Amino acid sequence: MLQRYGERVHKIAIDADFTCPNRDGSKGRGGCTFCNNVSFSPNGRKPPPLTEQIAAGRRVIRKRTGARKYLAYFQAYTNTYADVDQLRQLYDQALAEPDVIGLAVGTRPDCVPEPVLDLLDEYQQKGHEVWLELGLQSAFDDSLRRVNRGHGFAEYKTAVLHARERELQVCTHLIIGLPGETQKHCEITLKRVLELGVDGLKLHPLHVVKGTQLANEWRRGEYRPLTLDEYVDTATHLILRTPPEVIFHRVTGTASRKILLAPDWCSGKWLVLNRITEALHRQQLKNNHSLIPADCKEPPQWNSSARPATYHL
Ligand code: SF4
Repeated sequence: MLQRYGERVHKIAIDADFTCPNRDGSKGRGGCTFCNNVSFSPNGRKPPPLTEQIAAGRRVIRKRTGARKYLAYFQAYTNTYADVDQLRQLYDQALAEPDVIGLAVGTRPDCVPEPVLDLLDEYQQKGHEVWLELGLQSAFDDSLRRVNRGHGFAEYKTAVLHARERELQVCTHLIIGLPGETQKHCEITLKRVLELGVDGLKLHPLHVVKGTQLANEWRRGEYRPLTLDEYVDTATHLILRTPPEVIFHRVTGTASRKILLAPDWCSGKWLVLNRITEALHRQQLKNNHSLIPADCKEPPQWNSSARPATYHL
């Protein structure tokens, strides 16, 4: 984005008051076993008007980073789960803000019918930056069933092929640490995602939060969360197997301490980012990987005010 726009472009997270077909009964009830939407949507219900959310996000991000351009990131729940006219109204409203140059739309792979993709393509044709963010989590149908996703890999494949026909940019979300999965599962998932073609990836550790089915499984000892070492090892393994043109939008995720049950390292992202950066640096010394700038002799430290711009993370 820095190269494309000559300046930082940041996402402003928006909760547009959608629900999810895996919660309201049309695909399933209860949602994914790990899902408590508060864990990635701190606004809670009922969200403020869209323009207020953008204004608040802009204030915080501009103060912290100096950014002057933004993507409206429709994040909470399933942001294509409405009819096209309603979606158009919402997306138009976000794009009416003069410094909002595009959209990132988070959704499920089984919730992007062709009319919705045509709508996103319209924005792209008008010159807006458009990202379709698809929550796949795993390419293994058994794993998806186990966490009650309500869709399989086939739906993801269809969504990606239709999106790519329109040259829409796709960012795929993957979870590391799903019940029953090992690093090998994650590696095969990545391989299948790369084979279909993808422009961006988000990696996320599976965390156990209050009010979820996964929390019950964890209490009964049926689910063991990853250790920090295991997460760092697998995330690094995946990053090193991804071609440099695929952008990592995120390599870890956090949950608020108020709802996080386990693992406790999921409450802070800087520790995890620094550990991944150090692991990549060690690999660089061994294998001369192009992810790390050649003149970078020591791994930089990430914190709330320092974000090494030359790392592709
Ligand atoms: S698809 Fe997303 S919003 Fe719906 S239940 Fe699963 S994680 Fe939650």
